Amino acid sequence: MPGMAKNFWKTDPRDALKAGLTFDLSTLDRNGRPGWAGNKSRGEAYMAARGEELSDLQEKLFAEGRSGGERSVLLVLQGLDTAGKGGIVRHVMGMVDPQGVKLASFGVPTAEERAHHYLWRIEKQLPPAGRIGVFDRSHYEDVLVVRVDELVPEAEWQGRYDEINAWEEKLIAGGTTIVKVALMVSYDEQGARLAERLDRPDKYWKFSPSDITTRSKWPAYQQAYADVFARTSTEKAPWYVVPADRKWYARLAVTEILTQTLESLDLGWPAATFDVAEMQAALAKTNQASV
Ligand code: ADP
Repeated sequence: MPGMAKNFWKTDPRDALKAGLTFDLSTLDRNGRPGWAGNKSRGEAYMAARGEELSDLQEKLFAEGRSGGERSVLLVLQGLDTAGKGGIVRHVMGMVDPQGVKLASFGVPTAEERAHHYLWRIEKQLPPAGRIGVFDRSHYEDVLVVRVDELVPEAEWQGRYDEINAWEEKLIAGGTTIVKVALMVSYDEQGARLAERLDRPDKYWKFSPSDITTRSKWPAYQQAYADVFARTSTEKAPWYVVPADRKWYARLAVTEILTQTLESLDLGWPAATFDVAEMQAALAKTNQASV
């Protein structure tokens, strides 16, 4: 029974995983499970229980949006190939009503997208009021792959960190709560996951030859991620850096961060916009009438 699942969080993952001023990506244990004192099966049981709570909160957010509320939530997912972004979408967001979720994936920009400012395609996918938006990759690719592959001159990407901070601040002021999650897998685990994709015909579709090229630039990506955390983990929109070698832990942690974030919104059910007693009486009358 999920309701019986025991909570083994010893530290709120929002505290345990937040990238603060002293955060050092180079020493992150990517096989770790910060804050969680239980094993995998305990983790899975607790995640299912929290999923029910998350689903309930999501419905309240949706109801609020339907009743004129302007708040929304945006989950930004970043991570290198095989880090498990798809697994978060499937296993965490899969626990809530799909009607309430707006999912957007950002791949290589199209010619039309390239003709616009890099935030143009991102803005088009922002969640409407009442919705949880999920970005599978995001505007952060514009300071990650764009920087590593030198797709624009350095002077241009250097200016983007402050621009992104200001843009996110504007979103927050408009009622969007931003939850930024980076799934950090180790080099060895990424190698093992890519090998599995090449070993199994049911996984070939997940493999792209460019994954090898990206992997060969590992140190440059780690540096680019470290700078993202150093320069865009703000008070209002911090980064949560999640060790991702254990998939169960990453999913458990994101479930908890998201559930806690929604809890902190203090959501309630919207009041009736009609006279309840009057409507009950009117309904009773229709029940008495014979048709
Ligand atoms: P995934 O690999 O996440 O399953 P896709 O293969 O559709 O998804 O696309 C992801 C690729 O798009 C990644 O290699 C990523 O670096 C690239 N990409 C995302 N955003 C940008 C961007 N702004 N500029 C260049 N490449 C980008």
